[in-house]
Amino acid sequence: MTDQITRHVCLISGGKDSTALAIYMRDHHPEIEMEYVFNDTHKELDETYEFLTRVEAYLGKPIIRLTSDLAERGFDHWLQMYGGFLPSPSVRWCTRKLKIEPFEEYIGDAAVCLYIGIRADEHREGYISNKPNIIPQYPFKDAGITKDDVIRILEESGVGMPSYYEWRTRSGCYFCFFQRKAEWAGLLQNHPDLYEQAMAYEKPEEGYTWVQKESLQELARPARIEIIRADEAKRKIQEAKRRKPKTLAAMFDADTEDPDESVGCLMCHL
Ligand code: SF4
Repeated sequence: MTDQITRHVCLISGGKDSTALAIYMRDHHPEIEMEYVFNDTHKELDETYEFLTRVEAYLGKPIIRLTSDLAERGFDHWLQMYGGFLPSPSVRWCTRKLKIEPFEEYIGDAAVCLYIGIRADEHREGYISNKPNIIPQYPFKDAGITKDDVIRILEESGVGMPSYYEWRTRSGCYFCFFQRKAEWAGLLQNHPDLYEQAMAYEKPEEGYTWVQKESLQELARPARIEIIRADEAKRKIQEAKRRKPKTLAAMFDADTEDPDESVGCLMCHL
């Protein structure tokens, strides 16, 4: 870190890793005056907002919600600007417009240390800004913190895991296209209203669907849901065998692990 650093920012996505990092920094570096920041797309799950309230109580200070001009320039505005073209893993305009740009606007030109919750057992770097004044820091990588440690940090703090982890493996918008089909089935079961809203964005006749080659209407058919759930159960068994978990924490991990975690959004899914 250089002498010019004037601010320290911890980006919280509403997921387990970034939250554990916020807790870790508060507990291990209380001398740092940290700004905790959450990019609010206004398309998050209620569970995420409820989780953030718990986190704030532990941190003892508010998490700044970046909304920019979302009232006028939210997801629906940008969808219109992109001609109704739904974002996808390869064309991810939502991350830029709803997360990166409001965040970089908030940071401005000050030299800032940005704390990122990438763990020592992950092989990705997370969000890297093109702005040279945003200097990424990886305290979990530096300290050798792994997924088991993250779960322990959350449990020991009393904050616990976000409740959506019971049926979903990532934070982010309810319609996030990084969801697996089993997670869409989870959305249908847990938030049928949000599933309906996600479905309303699709135009299958024009090829605009959240899931490649399958509309949410097709996915919601009971027979299809049954197949998706059976496939998911098989995947979990195979994953658990592959991991050969030895501890209870690892067994829990195998039950909730998303093998695609590494290809999630680097800004949203921490
Ligand atoms: S959570 Fe998913 S849909 Fe929402 S901004 Fe991030 S990548 Fe886009």
